[in-house]
Amino acid sequence: GAAVDIARLSKIYKTREDEDVVALDKIDLKFEPGTFVAVVGPSGCGKSTLLSLLAGLTGASTGTIAIDGETINKPHPKIGVVFQSDLLLYWRTVLENILLPIEIKRLDVARYRSRAEELLAQVGLEGFGNKYPSELSGGMRQRVAICRALIQEPGLLLMDEPFGALDALTREQMIMDLQAMWMRLGNTVLFITHGIDEAVFLADRVLVMSPRPGRVDLDLNIDMPRPRQ
Ligand code: ADP
Ligand code: ADP
Repeated sequence: GAAVDIARLSKIYKTREDEDVVALDKIDLKFEPGTFVAVVGPSGCGKSTLLSLLAGLTGASTGTIAIDGETINKPHPKIGVVFQSDLLLYWRTVLENILLPIEIKRLDVARYRSRAEELLAQVGLEGFGNKYPSELSGGMRQRVAICRALIQEPGLLLMDEPFGALDALTREQMIMDLQAMWMRLGNTVLFITHGIDEAVFLADRVLVMSPRPGRVDLDLNIDMPRPRQ
């Protein structure tokens, strides 16, 4: 996993009336490599903004983000992202969706095909590579989205309520599978969720944020030994 160092990070949006909205207020955070960090807090407290900044999808107003010591300000191959919606392209097969980031980077797709198939097998979708997203259930599609996020072996995996749109039973299964997968891969994970139960079950560390002014109020270490490989 990657080491993450966030220093004095702020994000101020402008409303249409030209007023400032402070979504994040000078946040300092360090994540050790391989840490599973969950972020909880009420709607509007800045969770998605934090994730967007880490993903390089939007720029910071102040402060810096460093991944393994390297300052980042745009999407980076060391960072994979999974959103609440799977964002799969319905006209592409499962395998073509997983390989999309490779194509966009103009890397050699053929060289990544076996890795894509391995990832599919790891999430229990062996042999589904030639199916189309419409042939899969919501949980299966979200598994494909996770494979797509992992294809470049990112040191940091960002997840924004990845199971929020799934039914309770599927969600529970996905949580177990994500934990098993993370224990194998050892990525650093930032996981946004509304479920405190999910956060405490999965994470080494739980950050509780509060709105106004968009700060981390509580930083809890969950001291639960887990088997690691
Ligand atoms: P969530 O609570 O699930 O993080 P939101 O409903 O707050 O999502 O936001 C959804 C999208 O709308 C995000 O991309 C966010 O950046 C954008 N957004 C949220 N609040 C505002 C706002 N006041 N003005 C413009 N865009 C906003
Ligand atoms: P959360 O993910 O915790 O719901 P967000 O990061 O989406 O919080 O939003 C934090 C604050 O920033 C909220 O007040 C939201 O309305 C505001 N906000 C988010 N995106 C935008 C945007 N694009 N333009 C203006 N305000 C925004």
